[in-house]
Amino acid sequence: MNEAIDTGFRIKPFDETLKESGQYPITSSGIKVFQINVGKVCNQACRHCHVDAGPKRTESMPGHIIELCLDVIKKERFPVVDITGGAPEMNPGFRDLVKGSRDAGCHVKTRTNLTILLEEGYGDLPQFFADNRVELIASLPYYLAETTDRQRGAGVFDSSIEALKRLNSLGYGMDGSGLTLNIVYNPCGAFLPPPQKAIEADFRRELKKRHGVSFTGLFTLTNLPV
Ligand code: SF4
Repeated sequence: MNEAIDTGFRIKPFDETLKESGQYPITSSGIKVFQINVGKVCNQACRHCHVDAGPKRTESMPGHIIELCLDVIKKERFPVVDITGGAPEMNPGFRDLVKGSRDAGCHVKTRTNLTILLEEGYGDLPQFFADNRVELIASLPYYLAETTDRQRGAGVFDSSIEALKRLNSLGYGMDGSGLTLNIVYNPCGAFLPPPQKAIEADFRRELKKRHGVSFTGLFTLTNLPV
């Protein structure tokens, strides 16, 4: 026999919460950010990857879909176009997507795993990013090599630092340049991230002291192990 257990706990209906905060009914006020995932191909195969991306994946947004996205971008002129992957840079249409979005007057953000910027055929990307004023959201699990390499593979930390230095040399992450270089931190185990401001201060101090690297800001992220 099923018997309901009255715990005395009541979940407030969503509509009720909206009404209390003066936001009912919810209405669309337009699209501010047009986010596009261009595929699962990546030069890395991180243990924590929530989209299971990697070098063996073949799913990549085809050129004609990128063209369709650009048609929408040109028509709607979203304030922000936000590109993600995989390693989005590995999609053959990536540069066209960035340039087309910029031509349409959009601010462009892209995710980068940093190490791709050192791979053959991608070395000119930092300059391309700077020329197009692309905002970078760079993943770096931790400011210590051992912890980062455990999650992302041997040598990833050193390559990431080299890429960060290249970006700094172009003005990324430097005061007054207008070139934004944000870092994403995610926990290396089954625990929640520490407060964002605290870990940002740790990264800023340690990356500067150990490697002379600067960045704009840091976001904490909690990966879902799927
Ligand atoms: S770099 Fe990012 S997209 Fe690529 S495997 Fe690692 S977590 Fe996934």
